[in-house]
Amino acid sequence: MAGLSEYTLITPTAGISVDAHGGRAKCLQRLVRLDMPVPRTLALSFDVVAGIAAGAMPDTSAIMREFAEGALISVRPSSEDPDWGGPRAVLNIGMNDERHAQFVEQEGRASANALYLRFIHAYAIYVARLDPDMFEDISIHAGDPDGDKALKDALQAYEDETDEVFPQDPARQLGEVLRSMARVWTGTTARLLRSAKGAPENAGLGLVVQEMALGISGGVSGSGVIQFVDSQTGLPQVTGRYKSQSQGRDALAGKDNVMFLNKDPRGTSLQSLLPDQFDQLLKDGELMRRRLREEMQIEFTIEEGVLSILDAVRVQRSARAALRIVVDLARDGVISREEALTRLNPHSLTELLHPQVDPSVKRDTIARGIGASPGAAIGKIVFSATAAQHAAAKGESVILLRRETSPEDIRGMHASVAVVTEKGGMTSHAAVIARGLGLPCIVGAHGLKINTRKKTLVTDDKRHFSEGDELTVDGSLGEVLAGPAKLLDAALDDAFTTLLDWADDVRDIDVRANADTPSDALTARRFAAQGIGLCRTEHMFFEDDRLTVMREMIFADGAEDRRTALDRLMPMQRADFQELFEIMKGQSVCIRLFDPPLHEFLPSTREGTLELAEGLDLPVSTVTARIAALTEFNPMLGMRGVRLGITIPEIYDMQARAIFEAAVEVTKRGDIVVPEIMIPLVSAQKEAELVRSRIDAVAAAVRYVEGVDFTYRLGVMVETPRAALRAGDIALNSDFLSFGTNDLTQMTYGLSRDDAARFMSEYVKQGVFAEDPFHVLDTDGVGELLMIGAERGRAARPQVVLSICGEHGGNPESIAFCRQAGFDYVSCSPYRVPVARLAAAQLAVADGLKLRTITGSK
Ligand code: PEP
Ligand code: MG
Repeated sequence: MAGLSEYTLITPTAGISVDAHGGRAKCLQRLVRLDMPVPRTLALSFDVVAGIAAGAMPDTSAIMREFAEGALISVRPSSEDPDWGGPRAVLNIGMNDERHAQFVEQEGRASANALYLRFIHAYAIYVARLDPDMFEDISIHAGDPDGDKALKDALQAYEDETDEVFPQDPARQLGEVLRSMARVWTGTTARLLRSAKGAPENAGLGLVVQEMALGISGGVSGSGVIQFVDSQTGLPQVTGRYKSQSQGRDALAGKDNVMFLNKDPRGTSLQSLLPDQFDQLLKDGELMRRRLREEMQIEFTIEEGVLSILDAVRVQRSARAALRIVVDLARDGVISREEALTRLNPHSLTELLHPQVDPSVKRDTIARGIGASPGAAIGKIVFSATAAQHAAAKGESVILLRRETSPEDIRGMHASVAVVTEKGGMTSHAAVIARGLGLPCIVGAHGLKINTRKKTLVTDDKRHFSEGDELTVDGSLGEVLAGPAKLLDAALDDAFTTLLDWADDVRDIDVRANADTPSDALTARRFAAQGIGLCRTEHMFFEDDRLTVMREMIFADGAEDRRTALDRLMPMQRADFQELFEIMKGQSVCIRLFDPPLHEFLPSTREGTLELAEGLDLPVSTVTARIAALTEFNPMLGMRGVRLGITIPEIYDMQARAIFEAAVEVTKRGDIVVPEIMIPLVSAQKEAELVRSRIDAVAAAVRYVEGVDFTYRLGVMVETPRAALRAGDIALNSDFLSFGTNDLTQMTYGLSRDDAARFMSEYVKQGVFAEDPFHVLDTDGVGELLMIGAERGRAARPQVVLSICGEHGGNPESIAFCRQAGFDYVSCSPYRVPVARLAAAQLAVADGLKLRTITGSK
């Protein structure tokens, strides 16, 4: 017995909900409430559809009786989130020989045949599951203009394959359609597809059964889709298609006889053909935008001049369009600014900061790896930094391919448009540098073998590429593509700036940038970072000819040699800091004292060794012997950070002096600078104490010489597990504690940040780790150390400033953790600053915070 429990007629007051009947059913009810011309529609709930899949069929005769005598009907899927997909819609249910004969009378033979044929096709393929190839050649064509033969052939083909005549009972037809759609949803393919889109395992399917408005009839009829913004840009623009004598989405499928919607010199338009209906669509579109609070695409039919709205879905949109749409909705007062902020995935902003591979192009992927720095670039491949520099000097765009990078490659990286390495993970040298430079980068690229000597690249499927061949690097998806792909430009437009201004109004955790060079600092300012949270000073020596001076300092044999090298480094550092302070205009700048993992600074090529021998005026053999003496078994746990500062204190003395002199100079010119100095890789309180006393002495000396007073803040980088555990003692000597989660993750897991990529994807695939912990903060383990460090630090020194500056600082999940733990700021690569600003704002909105400026022109 059919009844209320089996279906619900969609009326303004019916009990329809997204969680019980799906998004499409709910949307149709909203349209009905807005008095839009929606044909009569029934909704079947998730429970009823699940019952159908299990064999409990509703009374389909009763359902058919809900519609006008002789009407045709359609069935469409209605899942909770339209993006989860669902079975295909089936139109013209109820069509049989008898109705066909009536249609021939009323609408003419051609229309009647087209309607019947469409239903037979859909029923045969999606319900009876016959081979689509059988029906490929059965269509209406020039030799059979009315489609008589096509219809006969289709009915015959169905009978031949199934041994029964095409079902004639409309109730049975409907029953079979419902059963087939319900079963498809429970099948493995559909489950996999929707779980890839984030749907839960038990996601339900509702169905909507709607009376057809016939776009195919003898008179002025057709169907189309219309939307009011451009899907790529989000800018207002009427787009879509209309086709006379068509149904469903036919107008989108083919190009034949398709009309423009609004007046266009290139051909006929709906606006000129049916101006009233066109105006009605514009009005309905505007009403939907205001009342559904969304940009919708409308599916409509015109039957004998009468407009029906069959369905409306969210406009498909690129990341750029999504941003423009929410900003415009908020500017027009349709949604609040807080809601605009929550409607975007913060990660999607990354796509706007860099050029992207056009999502509509076909990709010829030759290798995959970790997308370590987003964006896309096209270039000729080169296999050495020198080749990159030569090519760049000739104005060529090049992609640098290396097994892994070292400081010798920095100049080559600067000269390249993208970098790909065979080895490495999210925090390896290439990854960190490329992110700073805003260069697309893929590390740990599987599926390719780089032969730097032969200058060739061979992929797993044996495709060969040589120096000079053109490739595309998609650093966002971590894919290397053969040849040049079509790219879309970066989109830092007014909508982008506006949304992030709104984000800044609401968020309650600061966002700084990790910036090592003036160009990083400029990027940081462009993205409105609130200062620099980490300046890795050793990175200032990756550029130009400075690497050799840095190496001379590291390699110096005695105090005298070292002093000479430090004397050369000092003015360079002072000028660097001065420039950073000037660019940041009085904002906080946190400078980390040298932390050079030695393996990143030892020459690894003959050229590098020779250059160093020349610099030190020593024979190559002596230099090689010294390299051997300095080589560590485990450089990431060796003579790094504060260990270098304690054993050779003159190095940090030099840096402190350069920082203070630069601060004094810039302050004299107007911007008051209070530098922050950070000590890396501390594991014992004594280390911080020793460094502090020397730096205090340098400050006193500079004050005396310069004759001016100044203040500074000294802090510690908490990046060893011991520093987190002993944060109470350490805080006594620290104005701030900044958690370096790259090293902290490395040391907590006992997992090399440079070698993890070799097995990480397997680990994640097998579910050993939920995510790469260098990518997404491990809140359980590393996070516990952060909490312990924060609590103990704060208990010992309540005013201590807490922050995170590892790569996790730009990650929305990590920001949530840090905000919860009461951190003052996060610091991340400049290009991740916008993502962090939006993510932080979303957290504040979720906690019910309101924008400080609700009205105003921003
Ligand atoms: C860290 O270890 O988290 C950090 C920021 O420092 P680096 O990556 O330079 O070791
Ligand atoms: Mg570190």
